[in-house]
Amino acid sequence: MLKFIKCLADIFLPPRCLRCGKIIQGENGLCDECFSQIKFISAPYCQTCGHPLPSGKTVAQCPLCVQGNKNLFRMQRSRVYYDENSRPLILNFKFHDRTENAEFLARWLYTAGHDIWQQGADVLIPVPLHQTRLRTRKFNQSALLCKELSKITGIPVDYTSLQKHRKTKPQVECSGQMRVRNIKNAFTVKFPQRLKDKRIVVIDDVMTTGSTLKECAKVLRLAGAKSVDALTVARVLK
Ligand SMILES: [Zn+2]
Ligand SMILES: [Zn+2]
Repeated sequence: MLKFIKCLADIFLPPRCLRCGKIIQGENGLCDECFSQIKFISAPYCQTCGHPLPSGKTVAQCPLCVQGNKNLFRMQRSRVYYDENSRPLILNFKFHDRTENAEFLARWLYTAGHDIWQQGADVLIPVPLHQTRLRTRKFNQSALLCKELSKITGIPVDYTSLQKHRKTKPQVECSGQMRVRNIKNAFTVKFPQRLKDKRIVVIDDVMTTGSTLKECAKVLRLAGAKSVDALTVARVLK
């Protein structure tokens, strides 16, 4: 029955490429041309922060992580470079209600999180939106990604423990140090007892400077989390 409904939906609302909008066959989310332009993050990369390493490198960590740079995260992973080629697909997903693509992007998160699943994780947490933002946007893109990722991994999602209590300017309107100040102390943990000793994976669509994810990790650690990982679809990399 479900399959039948899906067939009907495909006839009347055929799947479209998330990047260019062209009608596509199958469930790959992107047409072949758009897919070929996406730059994937692949090995070798730093085992801790996930930053790509020069090819041929056999070391496990980048110079910063080797120095023991104080890292709030156990691991950070992302699937693609956030650049002019991947930007439209993220923006379409986020702002043009192309929510059906959460399923496809969750598969990317699953691939990128390979090391995380191997080490073990107890709960997925979306980067929360402030209530007023949630009302205007109607959905939290990170929560949708969590929901789909949970179906693949079997790891439960906690939608309510981490909350954004302070309204901030959109991070895209800020630069450098302003981003850090803008987001500082914007999050709280509402039910710390739920997160105590848990291995948490925080999910978002894009990591730019990492200040939002760091603020989340800070309060989750204070709440007693055993470890915090950051997993995003795309990441800005120089
Ligand atoms: Zn396309
Ligand atoms: Zn590193």
